Amino acid sequence: MATIGFVGLGNMGGPMAANLLKAGHSVKVFDLVPELISQSEKAGATVASSAAIAATDVDVFISMLPASVHVATLYLGENGILNHLSASTLVIDCSTIAPETARQVSAGAEAKGVTMIDAPVSGGVGGAVNGTLTFIVGGSNEGLEQARPILEDMGKNIFHAGEAGAGQVAKICNNMLLSVLMTGTAEALQLGVDNGLDASVLSEIMRKSSGGNWALEVYNPYPGVMENAPASKDYEGGFLVDLMIKDLGLAMEAAMDKGAATPMGSLARNLYLNLRKSGHGRKDFSAIQKLFQDS
Ligand code: NAD
Repeated sequence: MATIGFVGLGNMGGPMAANLLKAGHSVKVFDLVPELISQSEKAGATVASSAAIAATDVDVFISMLPASVHVATLYLGENGILNHLSASTLVIDCSTIAPETARQVSAGAEAKGVTMIDAPVSGGVGGAVNGTLTFIVGGSNEGLEQARPILEDMGKNIFHAGEAGAGQVAKICNNMLLSVLMTGTAEALQLGVDNGLDASVLSEIMRKSSGGNWALEVYNPYPGVMENAPASKDYEGGFLVDLMIKDLGLAMEAAMDKGAATPMGSLARNLYLNLRKSGHGRKDFSAIQKLFQDS
């Protein structure tokens, strides 16, 4: 069993750290929010009073932070924790961030002799809680093989996308597609409901027909269709609209960088920006249904 430092105990990181504890690892945690630290402590974690302390004397260090700026600030610069990490510590960043930031942090780690992989995840809060996440890894084969047993304690599928930053590229492609699928699903459901159909009946028909997709399978955006989906809990929890907008911004930057056409992703981003303007930035991303309901 390993000694693991874990920083970022939010919607995803909290349950991921809990699964590492359940697997028998010793986990040292830190977050900026004291209540989240207390919850992890109750689950058996040791409390660190700073990220630097969480990163000291550990076999593996994992971060699960909101965005590029948080990851760059945590690792790089004079006060960055790369200065505190031992070369024997394996670093896994699971946050979804810009591929370029992932490459910069990875290069900084390499310069200190530290092995690092980017391992953003897919599968949502349910996947984090149930230990069924998909990890999309960028980095060396050696780094991935070293990380594999730890990742397997938090997830079910592990993909190697390529070198440093490649995990992030694959993740933002996936999330751009997810935003388009969720938006299209919400639009189709509202069209049916406005024409007198029951949302549950229509969902089942489309799920088994050629419109079937992940949103209809496990994350229906229409309230009341799926008991455990955020849509049935006033869109609380889950994957925030703010975070989807961040990921779509990363997709747009990657597209501009290479001259790729992303008309659907661009439209989805604009719809999500409107959703945030109407006060729903902290709701789950399936709240895109509201744009169609309220129109
Ligand atoms: P979250 O906002 O719930 O959690 C982030 C946590 O990081 C917060 O608790 C915050 O206090 C903490 N934090 C920020 N800066 C810190 C610092 N310097 N030191 C210590 N702690 C710090 O976000 P989340 O939903 O857990 O998402 C985390 C990452 O995972 C994001 O990059 C997101 O895009 C990605 N992601 C989320 C989901 C989802 O369904 N929520 C799914 C896949 C990927």
